[in-house]
Amino acid sequence: MATSFDVAVVGAGLGAFHAAEEIAKKSKSTKVAFIFGYTFQEFPLAAAMYLNNPDEHEKWTCGIPEKWQQRWPNVQYFLSSAERIDCDKKEIRLVNKGPDAGALISYKAVILATGSKSPLISPSPGMSLSERIAEVQACGKALRSAKTVIFNGSGLVGVEMCGDFRVQNGYSARIILLSRSGKVLDTDFGEKSQSPNPAVVQRVTDILTRKFKVEVKHGSVSDPKFSDAILSPGSLKLDDGESLDFDVYIPCFPVGPNTGSLVSSKRDLLDAKGALLTNESLQSTSHPEVFGVGITSTKVPGHPVSARITAASQHCALQALAVIEGKPVQVFKDKGAPPPMAHPMNVKIGHGPGGYLIWTSLPGPAKVCCCQCCQGGFPCCPPPCCWCCVAGCSGVCGTCGGPAEGEAPAIFMKSLLQKFQIHGYKGFGEYGGEVPKQDKMT
Ligand SMILES: Cc1cc2nc3c(=O)[nH]c(=O)nc-3n(C[C@H](O)[C@H](O)[C@H](O)COP(=O)(O)OP(=O)(O)OC[C@H]3O[C@@H](n4cnc5c(N)ncnc54)[C@H](O)[C@@H]3O)c2cc1C
Repeated sequence: MATSFDVAVVGAGLGAFHAAEEIAKKSKSTKVAFIFGYTFQEFPLAAAMYLNNPDEHEKWTCGIPEKWQQRWPNVQYFLSSAERIDCDKKEIRLVNKGPDAGALISYKAVILATGSKSPLISPSPGMSLSERIAEVQACGKALRSAKTVIFNGSGLVGVEMCGDFRVQNGYSARIILLSRSGKVLDTDFGEKSQSPNPAVVQRVTDILTRKFKVEVKHGSVSDPKFSDAILSPGSLKLDDGESLDFDVYIPCFPVGPNTGSLVSSKRDLLDAKGALLTNESLQSTSHPEVFGVGITSTKVPGHPVSARITAASQHCALQALAVIEGKPVQVFKDKGAPPPMAHPMNVKIGHGPGGYLIWTSLPGPAKVCCCQCCQGGFPCCPPPCCWCCVAGCSGVCGTCGGPAEGEAPAIFMKSLLQKFQIHGYKGFGEYGGEVPKQDKMT
């Protein structure tokens, strides 16, 4: 027998968090099932660090649910993932694994914030913490001993992976960054916002190739086998016939939305790529009580991506409440903070000492504070702004008279990410009781 809820929120990232938070704040009488699906939280923005060095993983993970679960009285967490979301019956069956194995939940409205499949970069739905640690350790070990590594996808994540590889594993291995356009940053600028700024593309290419000794290779691979990471030696055949040997191969692009658990008698639930077919309200065109965040056919363009996801989540939460109350839904207008920007604020080529960060476009006040307009930089940047809060802070904008980039900003960024646990991420630094001390990484 199903347990009834008003709204079900499915997902374990910042999208699901902000959707549940919005309902918890706006309507305390609405009963919410938060189908989180894991017993741990892991910070995706730090993935390039811990995949290249598993010793970093625990610093960005919390395996104690009590530490990150919010105390919202109307929200109930479920720590087993959704196996089947039946849009006809409005029921969700959880997997037969984990603390809420096999539970059946019914809803009046559902918000799907299930993210994209990114093998290895993100844990697969339903993974236990021990399984995830084993995966991260295997990745780190394979990368450490690799002589040739191929990172496929030259967007922000691929560029970050190259930089953090050098930071953590040195310069002896050959790194190939595969790009379907032959250029860096094509995906992140092209699909999510505007065309890349040629000057930024050139600068990132120069730093990557000259300083980080990365080969940017023009080519694509259509064989679906290469949608998954391969941690043992193999060979990859590009679509133009050229073969590339590797010791480790990691796709650094999203393979498609996590919508495989959705079932419906209606044909037009998903598009050919698996995205939820939605209208301008981020509402399913076939099931009006179903909303999607980051997995929809309606695109939510702009940077920072996390701010766009947050805005979409808050919108979907309010629309789910409207559906329950029989009110009309509103068209999505991105009122997130900061407002949508055409380009990412920065490009990270690795974190911490040995890494490199390029500030590309900052919102107005931050631009002034970071002296981006006058190339102030350390030591001429205004001390009250940035000399005292986190490690590396004084060098956040680079050095005086130089461009706003360098190793110091990369050191600052790592400290910043560690210090500010935002978007519901809390309690990093503890695997907790699920992983006995002797099983932890060396
Ligand atoms: C290396 C890296 C660096 C990044 N850097 C930045 C940055 O600097 N700035 C920025 O703005 N953004 C950045 N991003 C992007 C940012 O992390 C994502 O935009 C954001 O995490 C998306 O949030 P989400 O909640 O939509 O999806 P996700 O974070 O992917 O969360 C969705 C979760 O739902 C889970 N799920 C899937 N199916 C089910 C199911 N059936 N049941 C239960 N749970 C399920 C998934 O496993 C996943 O854990 C970065 C991403 C990566 C990988």
